[in-house]
Amino acid sequence: MTLYLKNATYIDWKPLEFHSTHLAVSPGIDGGIRLLDALPPESERSDNDSVFECNQRLVTKSFACGHHHIYSALARGMPAPAKTPQNFPEILEYIWWCVDKALDMEMIEASALVSALYCVKNGVTFVIDHHASPFAIEGSLDTIAGAFDRVGVSHLLCYEISDRDGEGPREKGLQETDNYLKSGRQGHVGLHASFTVSDNLLKKAVALAQKHTTGIHVHVAEDQADQEACLNNHNQRVLERYRDAGVLDLSKSILAHCIHLSKKEKELLRRSEVWIVQNVESNQNNNVGLANYKELGGHVMLGTDGMHSDMLRSAKAAFFAGQAIEGIDLAGIYKRFRNVHLYIRANGFCGDGDNNLVILDYNSPTEINAENFLSHFTYGLESSHVHSVVSCGKLVVKNKKVLTVEEDEILAFSRAMGNKLWKKMQKAS
Ligand SMILES: [Zn+2]
Repeated sequence: MTLYLKNATYIDWKPLEFHSTHLAVSPGIDGGIRLLDALPPESERSDNDSVFECNQRLVTKSFACGHHHIYSALARGMPAPAKTPQNFPEILEYIWWCVDKALDMEMIEASALVSALYCVKNGVTFVIDHHASPFAIEGSLDTIAGAFDRVGVSHLLCYEISDRDGEGPREKGLQETDNYLKSGRQGHVGLHASFTVSDNLLKKAVALAQKHTTGIHVHVAEDQADQEACLNNHNQRVLERYRDAGVLDLSKSILAHCIHLSKKEKELLRRSEVWIVQNVESNQNNNVGLANYKELGGHVMLGTDGMHSDMLRSAKAAFFAGQAIEGIDLAGIYKRFRNVHLYIRANGFCGDGDNNLVILDYNSPTEINAENFLSHFTYGLESSHVHSVVSCGKLVVKNKKVLTVEEDEILAFSRAMGNKLWKKMQKAS
């Protein structure tokens, strides 16, 4: 069942070499690709093989998101909260914790389907998600996994466990995580953030991550309030607390944001194997500040924090915001954009093999080549150029049409679920 990409301009994403070639793409999880001078004659191809004409379009590795929240997918356009939030803790309390508490399993499925749909349309074939639905926890990760699988997005999921809604949701969160990871699925042990996690829960979460040989996925110092709560309640800073709990010893751990860190905490990160995710548009939206990620070592990747599913947009936003604070250059932002693949590979997760590809209809007004690719990447390439997408060797988007699911049906379903969610939230407020 080989997929042949005929007449491609293949860009090898690491050395950024350009090849005018044909590609043989193997099917399945972690399948590979071969560069061919000529397609095998039809007599040597199997009946299941297919040929896709690229017409010299750019073909390169597809994209991946280091930190997403499918739970926020139905929030677009919802009515304003009853009280206007004045700071980050109030944004959580008046907006996001109202959204996630109202989610039921049907809404979660719609959120996951529509997020996955936008991901593939934007060339994103792998998502690391951090999910919350305190009153619909049991089975939520399987529901998300099923939706992602249907659309053709590989994933690393977790449930963001916390103490904010009491013992019931906390224990269910731990149970859901254990059940999901026990079932053989890959994922993390998710925690919301230091200020909503007790010492008892932190201990249990690290033990669960060790049991399943995975890491903790948690928000870190997104706002100064996280540090203040940690100093007040635990007499130490957030990363000191996580160091003592063993979070920083787990190489699969993902720390989202890491904005308000002391010199000592930055040093802890530079010495650790854990990974950090930058989500600059979300930080600007919440007005929580910007960080100089160059000070945190090389383990920095990019996410969307649920704002959208467009990683090319995230890369541009990080590049422009980074000019003022860290002077990041074109090579630096491209590396950060691609670091997620290194995280996935180094930690033995699957679903991001070489047979994940994006075909770009980038009819540039100026020449594009290996020497100036990074400039085109930052100033030219956009998700609107995504023409077709191959996920695990299978064509999932062809000429901008999603092949795996009916786009209109999913959008109609998500609109219905959005209305249901907004009504439920208004009743609750
Ligand atoms: Zn987040």
